[in-house]
Amino acid sequence: MKICIFGAGYVGLVAAACFAESGNSVIAVDVDKSRIDGLKEGIIPIYEPGLKEMILRNQAEGRLSFTTEMTEAVQASLVCFIAVGTPPGEDGSADLKYVLGVARNIGQAMNGYKIIVDKSTVPVGTADKVREAVKAELASRNVAFEFDVVSNPEFLKEGAAIDDFMKPDRVVIGTDNVRTAEIMKELYDPYMRKQNRLIVMDIRSAEMTKYAANAMLATRISFMNQIANLCDCMGADVSAVREGIGSDSRIGYDFLFPGPGYGGSCFPKDVKALIKTAEECSYDFLLLKAVEDVNERQKEVLADKLITALGSPDEEQPLTGRTVACWGLSFKPRTDDMREAPAITIIERLLAAGATVRAHDPEALKEAKKHFGDRIEYSTNQYAILENADALTIITDWSEYRNPDFDRIKSALKSPLVIDGRNLYKPDRMAAAGFRYLPLGRCGVG
Ligand code: NAD
Repeated sequence: MKICIFGAGYVGLVAAACFAESGNSVIAVDVDKSRIDGLKEGIIPIYEPGLKEMILRNQAEGRLSFTTEMTEAVQASLVCFIAVGTPPGEDGSADLKYVLGVARNIGQAMNGYKIIVDKSTVPVGTADKVREAVKAELASRNVAFEFDVVSNPEFLKEGAAIDDFMKPDRVVIGTDNVRTAEIMKELYDPYMRKQNRLIVMDIRSAEMTKYAANAMLATRISFMNQIANLCDCMGADVSAVREGIGSDSRIGYDFLFPGPGYGGSCFPKDVKALIKTAEECSYDFLLLKAVEDVNERQKEVLADKLITALGSPDEEQPLTGRTVACWGLSFKPRTDDMREAPAITIIERLLAAGATVRAHDPEALKEAKKHFGDRIEYSTNQYAILENADALTIITDWSEYRNPDFDRIKSALKSPLVIDGRNLYKPDRMAAAGFRYLPLGRCGVG
């Protein structure tokens, strides 16, 4: 099938590579010329495991190409995907300017029947706006080509995006006609192990499904973070509690790990956007407001623990003269994405408290430098940043932090204090090794 994908970002690039991998002819379009020039040279602008190899292979075999020329891309394609960003506007609602911009580009370029597929996360009713934008362009050109608009929300997870796309839990197709549903089924058939995982529904429900999924996951995270904080107060162990509740098949084990708050390009903005959508129809989404509030507070928990353990809480800059080493900056492991990462809030708070901050991350240092500049120190060596530091705090659960050299950590740190925002280690083992270990909701040692 001939496909073009607008937006060569995390979603667009993965979708383009994976569609090409199953034999389709794919053109990825982006307005960012330097990004496209780089991709033509084999320079991949984001870190995602397996993506580079897949892009290079499909590019070499002539199934995947990159361009800024929208007209050529649209005219060569039957299916035009929209995978551009939908950042939060000032009021929290999803800003549709990029999506509708692409819709207009498609309307200006169309030379026959097209299926326009919205893969960006967009509020209910956006397909109608896309349809209107395309129609207006066609009317201004005095032409009347047929087209259909489909909602096909993306559920991939950064860090496991290729696997998620190639073997999806489900594919949701929102459409109002059988012809389009059949073409979309044909496109996704190579990725389906069981047919029932391709779920066809009406367009509005498909648009809502993506928000409902992310809102549900964010809710589980905030719920478990509050249970962990309560465990801290009550002397219970949140890991045992997770085992206990996860064994109930109605609850399950996934997404019940406490942490320093959710971040990334999706959960924060999608929760905000759904609250805003509800407001627009005069519905007060109380639960999601609480989920968001809890998350903002959770981002403070690691800094609070550090200040309590190290500082003089009554002083304006309680960490003056202290050095804190941070392991992990990206909002989750196996990505360089720092959008809305809890590390940003945590490090800003440490800096405001007067601390010197040193940071390590396997992939996100370049992104971090854009944010913090020379206000913090960076290293590609996770042990180098520990030399004479007053504490180590773990923010992101990269696998290289899971089983480190504890002797090396202890001898490098000025005081053996570890604040663990990901509960990576066993409290009794840390105590035996002589650490003062403060995890989340696990009866910390010391
Ligand atoms: P991104 O910021 O990584 O990429 C967006 C790309 O679109 C950029 O390269 C930008 O230059 C390009 N762009 C902007 N306007 C354009 C235009 N008119 N024509 C062509 N390209 C244009 O964004 P992303 O993370 O890939 O997210 C895209 C959408 O997918 C968002 O709605 C997001 O919520 C959703 N989504 C993201 C993820 C994720 O994990 N990142 C997962 C599921 C869904």
